[in-house]
Amino acid sequence: MPLWLFLTVCPGVGSCSVDFRLNKEQEAIQKAAAEFARGEFDKEIALEHERTHTFPEKIWKKAGELGFMGIHFPEEYGGQAYGIFENALVVEAFCRQDSGLGISISLADFSSEIILRFGNEAQKEKYLIPVTGGKAISSGGFTEPDHGSDITLMNTSATREADEYVINGVKTFITNGTISDFVVVLCQTDPEAKPTYRGQSVIIVDRDTPGFSRADVGEKMGIKMTSTGELSFNDVRVPAANLVGEENRGFYQVLEFFDESRIEIAAQALGIAQGAFDRALAYTKERAQFGKKLAQFQVTQHKLADMLTKIETARLIIYKAAWNYDQGNVDPMLTSMAKMYGGRVAVEVADEAIQLFGGYGYMLEYEVERFYRDAKIMEIYEGTREIQKNTIASALLGKL
Ligand SMILES: Cc1cc2nc3c(=O)[nH]c(=O)nc-3n(C[C@H](O)[C@H](O)[C@H](O)COP(=O)(O)OP(=O)(O)OC[C@H]3O[C@@H](n4cnc5c(N)ncnc54)[C@H](O)[C@@H]3O)c2cc1C
Repeated sequence: MPLWLFLTVCPGVGSCSVDFRLNKEQEAIQKAAAEFARGEFDKEIALEHERTHTFPEKIWKKAGELGFMGIHFPEEYGGQAYGIFENALVVEAFCRQDSGLGISISLADFSSEIILRFGNEAQKEKYLIPVTGGKAISSGGFTEPDHGSDITLMNTSATREADEYVINGVKTFITNGTISDFVVVLCQTDPEAKPTYRGQSVIIVDRDTPGFSRADVGEKMGIKMTSTGELSFNDVRVPAANLVGEENRGFYQVLEFFDESRIEIAAQALGIAQGAFDRALAYTKERAQFGKKLAQFQVTQHKLADMLTKIETARLIIYKAAWNYDQGNVDPMLTSMAKMYGGRVAVEVADEAIQLFGGYGYMLEYEVERFYRDAKIMEIYEGTREIQKNTIASALLGKL
C-alpha cells in the first residue's frame, strides 16, 4: 500500500506515532527532582559524606518524605504509580547534581522491586511501604566470592526444615550491605537441580536475624557514600514465608529484575555524564589561558561537541529502553545496550571533563574527579560491560 493511501485509511497514524518530547507531568517531575537536588545536595555536605564514607541519611529521608523514593511503585505501597521512565528522570536529575549523593539515594530501595514484582501481599506491605517512605533501606545479595558474572550456581544454600529455611553462605560486594534493614538473597534451594539455576530461590532476610552478620568490604574507588558489604549467613533461620514468589524460580526473577534495574543504572550514568559536562562547559567559559577563554580554542569546542553528542545519544537509547519497559515490551537487548552505552559515555565524558579542567580537575574540590570515580562502577555492577554485550549478542544470534 502506498504511504499516502495508508495514511488516508489510518488517519492520525502518521501524526502521533513518534514523539520525543516529555509530557507535562514528566516535565514537572524532572523539574521537581532537579529543584530538590539543587536545594538539598549541598556540595560541602557531599564532600563530608565522601570523606567519611557515610550514607546521606538526612537527604534520603527527605527524598522519601517528598515521594521521590519508589516513584514507580503503586500508591498502595507508598509510591506515586509512575513508570520506570519517570524514575529514570528522577535518578538522572539527582546524579546530574551530584554523582555520589544521587547514586547512594537512588540505590536506597535497591532490589525491593523483586518483592514488588514477585512477593505476596504481606511481604509488599511489610517491606515496601517503609522503603518508599524513606524509613527503610533494602539490599540485594546475588554476588558471591566465587560467583560474580555467573550466578547460575550459588554456594549460598537455603535448606527447608519444617516451616523455616536455614541459610548458609557468603555474599559479597552488596550495596547497602552494612546499613540495610533487609536483604533479598539469591540462594540455592535445590542443589541437585539441573541446570543448577533451576534450583535457586529469592529469600528475604531481616537485619537482626541471628547468624546473619555483615562487614564493610573495604576502601573502594568511588561511590564512597554507599555502603558495600560482605554478608555472612551462618545457620540463619528465617520463616518459609520469607520466600519471594515460587521456590526454585529465583534465577528467573533476578534476571527479570535486572531488566528493570539496569535502566536505573543507565539513568545514573546519564546523570553523571551530564553533570560532568555541565561543570566542564561552565569552567571552559571562565578559565583563560594564552589570553583566551578555554572555550575559544577550537579543540575545546570539539571536545564539548563530542561530549554532548555522546550524552544525547545515550539519552535517546536510555529513554527508549525505559519507555519500552513501561509499555510492557521488556527487551533485555535494549536494556543492556542502554546500560552498556550509558556506562561507557559516563566514563568517557567524566574523563574528558577532568582533562578540560587541567590540574584543578584532579582535585576533589572541583568535583569532576569524583564524577569520574563514580562513573566507573556503571560498567561493573548490575552486570559488567562484557556481560551486557553477551546479552545483546545472544538476543541477536540466539543459540548457535
Ligand atoms: C561497588 C560495588 C557494588 C556492588 N553492588 C552489588 C549488589 O548490590 N548486589 C550484588 O549482588 N552484587 C553487587 N556487586 C557485584 C557486581 O555485580 C559484580 O562485581 C559484577 O557482576 C562482576 O562480578 P565479579 O566482580 O565477580 O567479576 P567476574 O565475574 O569475575 O568478571 C571479571 C571479568 O571477567 C569478565 N567476564 C566474566 N565472564 C565473562 C564472559 N562470559 N564473557 C566475557 N567476559 C566475562 C567480566 O566482564 C570482567 O571483566 C557490586 C560490585 C561493586 C564493586
